[in-house]
Amino acid sequence: MTSTTARAHLIENVSLYGDTTADLVLAGGVIASLSAADAPAGAVRIDGSGLVALPGLVDLHTHLREPGREDAETIATGSRSAANGGFVAVHAMANTTPTADTAGVVEQVWSRGREVGLVDVFPVGAVTVGLAGTQLSEMAAMANSRAQVRVFSDDGKCVHDPLLMRRALEYVKTFGGVVAQHAQDPRLTEGAQMNEGLVSAELGLAGWPSVAEESIIARDVLLAGHVGSRVHICHLSTAGSVEIIRWAKARGIDVTAEVMPHHLLLTDESARGYDPRFKVNPPLRTQADVDALRAGLADGTIDIVATDHAPHPDEDKDCEWGAAAMGMIGLETALGIVQKAMVDTGALTWRDVARVLSETPARIGRDAGHGRPLAAGEPANVTLVDPAAAWTVDPAGTASRSNNSPFGGITLPGRAVATFLRGTPTHLDARLTETSTEGAPA
Ligand SMILES: [Zn+2]
Repeated sequence: MTSTTARAHLIENVSLYGDTTADLVLAGGVIASLSAADAPAGAVRIDGSGLVALPGLVDLHTHLREPGREDAETIATGSRSAANGGFVAVHAMANTTPTADTAGVVEQVWSRGREVGLVDVFPVGAVTVGLAGTQLSEMAAMANSRAQVRVFSDDGKCVHDPLLMRRALEYVKTFGGVVAQHAQDPRLTEGAQMNEGLVSAELGLAGWPSVAEESIIARDVLLAGHVGSRVHICHLSTAGSVEIIRWAKARGIDVTAEVMPHHLLLTDESARGYDPRFKVNPPLRTQADVDALRAGLADGTIDIVATDHAPHPDEDKDCEWGAAAMGMIGLETALGIVQKAMVDTGALTWRDVARVLSETPARIGRDAGHGRPLAAGEPANVTLVDPAAAWTVDPAGTASRSNNSPFGGITLPGRAVATFLRGTPTHLDARLTETSTEGAPA
């Protein structure tokens, strides 16, 4: 998996960030040149006409399920799915079994990610021991381990105790870490099945009110401001959350926030069919929330898009709504949904997509090797997008071990047709190279 053994690639006439046309020469693990004249003999030629090149995508919020739930996903299958979706790095959430709350577990995840070698797997460390919310984990030991953890989260659960949250924010400051909060007041959401609103009232399902998210975000931005630490808010889902983040940033509080593709596209109306594939946490909200999330992403209030890829095996999803697990897979559909919801509507340019799906997630995760410019000398972490590809989502065809996608059968624009990790193609649509004239290996 060393990058220098990869064959050189020449991507001709590709649109960098959707605005300038160039040739990309990938050799020796780096972008060697932006001119085809510099391509080494034997380079694999790719016709980049009509394609957009972006810095390789980075997902700050992925559930890989290993260790413990290899029936749902493994680091190998999740990495394959990520590469197919255009990702070169994923941050693997800590809610595994055992929990990633020690240096030993995060090193295990990190080294398995390296063995697989398809994406860089950055383990997220748990904030509290066993995600139990009562005792801080050994965050410094995880930060100082070979995995060099910088993102800490009890995701799946909220760090609800305000004193513990304060201590965590203070603690991670010492090594440049960040706490990523799953903002959900547990008392206000006991037994919740979907968004609290008109639809939940009509269906008679227990509601998950917006205030349960917004009250935690309000508290945590105030805490972060008070102790002078940075905080990241996972999966914003409500219009009020966008307003609070906007207010906090205007006050100079060091907060970043993410939104998920499904919250940019779907509403709680989807629950009417009682199809558990639409059951997710935080839940799908209203059209007004979707509109506010799109506007917040467009104006920079929301910093990034992350997937919350949450694989579940059929037995946890093929059941009635009330019993079904929450979450949906998302690594292979994220890019297409962002194009559909944001690019094709004129809300974001491809340069903005590079920012929200690569540059800023890399910066939040203190990951210096990703989110780099498409420029000579930079690591050859590159995603090629075909914005004209109209493709129908087939959950059975995913590389993920689980197929719990709510997007089956819908047509998306935009697809990652190639992904390069330090110059090595980790995903390459066969149609891109079948007409090329390949010489001897470089
Ligand atoms: Zn979460």
